[in-house]
Amino acid sequence: MTDYEIHLAGGEIDTHAHALHMQERGLDVQTLLGDCFASGLQACIDIGTSETDVTERVALLGNVRQVYFAHGLYPSNADRTDLDSALSSIERSLSLPKTVALGEIGIDCYRNYATPGLQRELLVQQVRMANRHGLPIIVHNRDAEDELLAAFAECRPEREGVMHCYSGPDSYVERFLDLGFSFSFGGNVTFRNAQNIRNAMIKVPLDRLLLETDAPYLAPHPRRGRTNHPGLIGLTYDLVAETRSIPRGDLVAAIRENVQRLFGI
Ligand SMILES: [Zn+2]
Repeated sequence: MTDYEIHLAGGEIDTHAHALHMQERGLDVQTLLGDCFASGLQACIDIGTSETDVTERVALLGNVRQVYFAHGLYPSNADRTDLDSALSSIERSLSLPKTVALGEIGIDCYRNYATPGLQRELLVQQVRMANRHGLPIIVHNRDAEDELLAAFAECRPEREGVMHCYSGPDSYVERFLDLGFSFSFGGNVTFRNAQNIRNAMIKVPLDRLLLETDAPYLAPHPRRGRTNHPGLIGLTYDLVAETRSIPRGDLVAAIRENVQRLFGI
């Protein structure tokens, strides 16, 4: 598949995409990203889920100037028997060029990956690792707000981290803000039935707000159900600017500043 729509007005940043997963859906990621950057996308962070994806991701996009990386063990790794060597491998990858965060890591109580206890153990080990390296963490959360708060009580992230693709209750926003987190919202914040996500998004101060695609998942309205990619993030910017009643240019400028503060990009 080589045809795709690009909805960018210029200045947008995609803080969370999975290049290899996009490729598996048939997208030519290098060409696509070249078109996106030519259309005004400023940067894209490619997110890892296992130590086994690092080499291929860096080979694919390491030479693209506007692409940065996060490496980490997704919660589905939590019941592996070779976790020690996987963690060592991730730790080595953190010194690769353009590595700006440790992720994606977290806890998922929706899918039956491993017990919450095992997931929490893996998360805490990676928070310690991020603290050792002075890196922000990128956190996956599915129905796991209390488990995450317990993990961060055990080991508090020292850098400002990111609650990625946040879709949890708005009642928890304050607590994660207090722990120093910023919030990133994905295409699902645009879904017609997602007033709960918009309620959470509105509670996040502009200086703690990020946007992302989580591509190839969660394409924004009105492209819901299609293969998502960074060129569609403009649709999410449109909706968020409108919902917050701020000029789109102010949103673009605020997110650029936040990305610079968090990731040094
Ligand atoms: Zn992700």
